[in-house]
Amino acid sequence: MLGTFVEVISSEKEASEIVFKEIKRVEGLLSKYDPASEVARLNRLGRLKVSPETFYVIKKSKEFYQSSHGAFDITVSPLLDLWGFTDRNFSKPSERQIKDVLKLVGSQKIILQDKDNVVKFSLSGVKIDLGAIAKGYALDCAVKKLKERGIKSCLIDAGGQIYALGDKRGEPWRIAIRNPRGEGFSDLIALKDGVVSTSGDYEQYFLADNRRYAHIFDPKTGYPADSGVISVTVTAPDGLTADALSTAVFVLGREKGLELMKKYPSAKVKIVEGKD
Ligand code: ADP
Ligand code: MG
Repeated sequence: MLGTFVEVISSEKEASEIVFKEIKRVEGLLSKYDPASEVARLNRLGRLKVSPETFYVIKKSKEFYQSSHGAFDITVSPLLDLWGFTDRNFSKPSERQIKDVLKLVGSQKIILQDKDNVVKFSLSGVKIDLGAIAKGYALDCAVKKLKERGIKSCLIDAGGQIYALGDKRGEPWRIAIRNPRGEGFSDLIALKDGVVSTSGDYEQYFLADNRRYAHIFDPKTGYPADSGVISVTVTAPDGLTADALSTAVFVLGREKGLELMKKYPSAKVKIVEGKD
């Protein structure tokens, strides 16, 4: 689900079913890869009246666009297409092609009509991709459902994104963070009622001209982000915030990333820098 494996750990039998059902529902709204989803339809039509939930996630995305000074930008979708990340047919485009596609990028081109939940794009060809925020939101929704059903302890792992609901028999959940290069773990995090989200360049990437091109883009350059960061781990009370911030800090790099984090005092960050 959500382009990854989702794993649920709980002593409550019904937990996994509740989580999978809810994630599937959210994915049905927000995945650009599902042609029937609201996001896919919006991308095709350039204008759509969406559900309050989809509207909320797009609105939040625009807030992160502002707070990150444009580093977090869901309109990167045409760049992912151009570089072959959408169909996994990777290739390095020409400067000319990148320049042309950059004309479609920029979240100020998304117009939100609060009164009727209509979302529209100010330019034809604009498309959105919620890949950096939808997983976090889906986890938040899943946990809300678990709480409604009285489940107090559960761990949900959605590939680089982990929600720890409650604790594990009185102790915080212990989460190991994979070493971004090589074997083993680089960190151990104790978590209770919170989310840890990791964005890195080591899962989805291709190699060309002796360098690594990963799936997180710098919307200013049209190239995969090259801030010197290889992995960012954010913990926050909710998934949406942790997910968006880890991606934004990956684009911004250490210095500007830490500036951004100051605006979110309930979230914490760990940044790993390095070269290939
Ligand atoms: P993962 O999907 O591995 O958990 P992220 O949460 O960092 O990693 O999301 C990466 C995805 O976000 C990309 O695959 C793409 O769909 C989208 N994306 C890429 N660059 C940006 C960006 N600058 N702002 C917002 N979304 C982005
Ligand atoms: Mg993210």
